[in-house]
Amino acid sequence: METTSTPTHCPYCALQCGMNLSPTPEGGVEVTERVDFPVNRGALCGKGRTAPAVLSSRVRLTSPLVRSRGTLVPATWDEALDRIAGELGAIRAEHGPDALGVFGGGGLTNEKAYTLGKFARVVLGTSQIDYNGRFCMSSAAAGGIKAFGLDRGLPFPLEDIPKTGCVILVGSNLAETMPPALRFFSELRENGGTLIVVDPRRTRTAEQADLHLMPRPGTDLALALGLLHLVVAEGRVDEEYVRERTSGWEEARAAAMAHWPEHVERITGVSVPQLREAVRMFCEPEAAMVLTARGPEQQSKGTDTVGAWINLCLATGRAGRPLSGYGCLTGQGNGQGGREHGQKADQLPGYRKLDDPAARRHVAEVWGVDPDSLPGPGRSAYELLDALGTDIRSLLLMASNPVVSAPRAAHIEERLKSLDFLAVCDVVLSETAALADVVLPVTQWAEETGTMTSLEGRVLLRRRAITPPAGVRSDLEVLHELAARLGVEKGFPTDPEEVFEELRRASAGGPADYSGITYRRLVEENGVFWPCPAPAPEEAGAVGGAGAVGGAVTGAAVDDGGGDDGEDTGFDVIPEDPTRDEAGPAQPGAVLPANVHPGTPRLFLDRFATDDGRARFAPVSHRPAAEEPDEEYPVFLTTGRVVAQYQSGAQTRRVDELNAAAPGPFVELHPRLAARLGAAEGDPLAVVSRRGRAVAPARITTGIRPDTVFMPFHWPGEGRANTLTNPALDPTSRMPEFKVCAVRVEIAGA
Ligand code: SF4
Repeated sequence: METTSTPTHCPYCALQCGMNLSPTPEGGVEVTERVDFPVNRGALCGKGRTAPAVLSSRVRLTSPLVRSRGTLVPATWDEALDRIAGELGAIRAEHGPDALGVFGGGGLTNEKAYTLGKFARVVLGTSQIDYNGRFCMSSAAAGGIKAFGLDRGLPFPLEDIPKTGCVILVGSNLAETMPPALRFFSELRENGGTLIVVDPRRTRTAEQADLHLMPRPGTDLALALGLLHLVVAEGRVDEEYVRERTSGWEEARAAAMAHWPEHVERITGVSVPQLREAVRMFCEPEAAMVLTARGPEQQSKGTDTVGAWINLCLATGRAGRPLSGYGCLTGQGNGQGGREHGQKADQLPGYRKLDDPAARRHVAEVWGVDPDSLPGPGRSAYELLDALGTDIRSLLLMASNPVVSAPRAAHIEERLKSLDFLAVCDVVLSETAALADVVLPVTQWAEETGTMTSLEGRVLLRRRAITPPAGVRSDLEVLHELAARLGVEKGFPTDPEEVFEELRRASAGGPADYSGITYRRLVEENGVFWPCPAPAPEEAGAVGGAGAVGGAVTGAAVDDGGGDDGEDTGFDVIPEDPTRDEAGPAQPGAVLPANVHPGTPRLFLDRFATDDGRARFAPVSHRPAAEEPDEEYPVFLTTGRVVAQYQSGAQTRRVDELNAAAPGPFVELHPRLAARLGAAEGDPLAVVSRRGRAVAPARITTGIRPDTVFMPFHWPGEGRANTLTNPALDPTSRMPEFKVCAVRVEIAGA
């Protein structure tokens, strides 16, 4: 146990709130306020406040478990690691490397995500790796890359929100998912700006809005097209911006003009006057933003839907300009960094593409392997899980609980059971770990050091604050030990900083360039926004002794964001920049060597990251959800989160205070639908889709459309919402359609 308070960050969502961990007299640790982190300024939600409860050995795994005669029994680390290495080696020898699946998570630190991707490709030689972040934000990532040439969830810091004129928040209930972020929107309204919320439910977030649009689930794309149609019809297009900074407008314009307002009203259920009001509110101020979250993204047309919202920004000149832009509110703790450094099926570190020969050469050189030895792209997350027990015979899984979180979860549970071998690394015995042949107990946030990248693209250092319980090891140690047992003795360090130094080199020159970031900078500056290239070799040499940025030199070019426009004193205070105030470098008065890149809080202000520097319109049209209501399944189901639970609930369901606040699943429905069913508050309702049946008590509210029911997805068992959800995939992002499917609702047992 450390004797002093340690500044660190929350283990849960992508807001990555700052907190201090302070020792208690009893020898434990408690969360105390940390006001120096500008995003949350000390505020935390209940999940963050109670996070130390999951450190308790009362709820933890502290010994490896190995299945013996059908039962998981305690084993030594050597027994467990030998068993995993032996099984993986035997399966690979018999069926080839692609019979070995690897599944990661958006909660893994950058160092772990990086090492897991390297382990899969270098040690196992498999192409079959993906992660649960595919379920979280991949459509926004795909839409952002198509339009801007780069995916960073927010291309500006959150602190810009209160200073803009209008925000359209599409499918985000941040009052429940990240409550401390709500203050940015309250401040927006206090400053005279307006908030438009798009959501089929009147959520606590929607209650804050100046205008709440309640479209039918799965029609956000049509809604965005209808708004763009009105922008054109009302002469609100920023012609000069479109001409100077974009391409593809004519096709996008033609597609939007086919979505006239009355047609869009019929598709979405949002009235024409509301559409007109939204356009007025969005277009009248000088600056405005669109922020999307899982609502529009978790659809079988999520990439096109994101494209349609970006089109609205581009046509009105609201991207790549101060206080304007499109952004995605990433969900998982390291959902951003986890999608940058190589645990995705098609990706190498630094957000490089696995099928790009130059990227393969660069990363292979860092890894000391032949580029031709690297496998090609593999299957996406759902496709990988769906293939378990067929040509994928084993799975190594870290930081994920697909038995609860995957779509069509009962089917995925069967696929997991059909494997020849399943190994799971986790902190607790999750529902997925309980199916494993070997479970390895690993360290977690407060017990280890590592970097996370927040939804703003701000790289943060989460520091070790306490000694882990006896019996657990870090994921990095696990991968080191397995690599050695599988014949790769070098290249898998267990020290997170050593891994990060390698990650810097691997990411250098890539879209997500971390090469100028060091642990020391992260501490001194309270986080650094990527891209942050390292100085070129000669400049690094000229600085001499510039330990603050590390001696690691990558050859990456310094871009024009460096602050070296004064006298060559060697060190400069970061120049005052009125648009940079709180954002970056986050630590006021931080001093950097003159040639050191300060990081990039705001992207695209001069040019987009496309070849020609222009943003690209997406020529998209509305299409229905993969499954629409019909006679047999007449109601929409949409799913989401509640404030007191997090994702699959593996951690938060073990915290008494959170369980008391949110003890179990429910079915939210409108009084008119309840009356049709003859259901009263609390009655057990069976929700049935083509994939299964879930039962949970009724929660009746006028805050939802009468044609829609809502279920939170945090629980296993008979109330598991993902038993019902549809794995129909977006053709580009391969993201499943969690947010809309057709169900029928009946009183259970009636
Ligand atoms: Fe943690 Fe997110 Fe809650 Fe902040 S909002 S305390 S990061 S769960």
